[in-house]
Amino acid sequence: MKIVAKVGNEDIAMVYIAELNSGNGKDPKGPGKKLIEFVESVQPPTPRSEKWVLIVSTLFGCPVGCSFCDAGMYYDGKLTKDEILSQIDFLIHNRFPRGGVPVKKFKIQFARMGEPALNENVLDVLEELPDIYDAPGLMPSISTIAPKGTDNFFERLLDIKKQIYGSQFQLQFSIHSTDVEKRKSIIPVKIWDFKKIASFGERFYNADNRDNERKITLNFALAKDTTIDPDIMIDNFSPEKFIIKVTPVNPTCSAKKNHISSHIVPGVEKYEILEALKNKGYDVILSIGELAENDIGSNCGQHIMNYMRKNEIVPGGYTYPLINVDEVTLIKDA
Ligand code: SF4
Repeated sequence: MKIVAKVGNEDIAMVYIAELNSGNGKDPKGPGKKLIEFVESVQPPTPRSEKWVLIVSTLFGCPVGCSFCDAGMYYDGKLTKDEILSQIDFLIHNRFPRGGVPVKKFKIQFARMGEPALNENVLDVLEELPDIYDAPGLMPSISTIAPKGTDNFFERLLDIKKQIYGSQFQLQFSIHSTDVEKRKSIIPVKIWDFKKIASFGERFYNADNRDNERKITLNFALAKDTTIDPDIMIDNFSPEKFIIKVTPVNPTCSAKKNHISSHIVPGVEKYEILEALKNKGYDVILSIGELAENDIGSNCGQHIMNYMRKNEIVPGGYTYPLINVDEVTLIKDA
């Protein structure tokens, strides 16, 4: 793996873009070369020793093509297990050269480029991670749109959770709207309906019969014209087992192209819909994050397309300069 560019602020978030020698790439970089990106972030004022988040890619682009995500602009295959691990390896050795990670809450999110349930190599990574790194705070996180036809992935994920991670595992379904047609327009592939998400989510929640089980997250990246109907939510999802997370739609090339703007805006913390969900008994997290992350392009957005397009202007996002890394940084043969 060769790091070709990076962008960010070491005290908030860094996005790395790397080139892999991986088959017949369709990337502008030419055949045989593919680009990926991955992120590390902290949440000031919380120090890195308390919480450190890695976000890695699982696919080259993404075949799903959600309307506000730049990863969906192309798709060129799955990363191998070693290619996924090489991102984690780089980030860990960059901060902790001895390979141990003395961080209380060490999250690894498989959520940068690619829907993780479309790549079974993610499961191999999850099985091996605890044996590779001495990281007592490790908490993997899978964030998924739940594509149709991925039942085998999720059944094996449930086994891995039971056998290895217990409550130290986070599962998030990105559902975005309670309106079926709106969901289809945001996520333009066949996906699990709410009944199926609820049924699997409950099994996942109940997997170990522990008292301190972690609730399953239902995420809405809330656009201006998006509906969340609290009655539909309560008919499907128990507040005992599911938590609701509402995030802004980040400023990306795709959001700009599709004229999608965020209902959640910085500086506003009260929203009627959040109160209505709380009144139904849900724990609701409003997760806005650091504004600087929009400038960096680290909290979503997939900076890689920006890189390939030579810094396309996106209002409110991607304003940090991209630094090309001249020297070859060999981390691990991919
Ligand atoms: S949001 Fe996830 S599933 Fe949708 S296009 Fe982006 S990477 Fe793929």
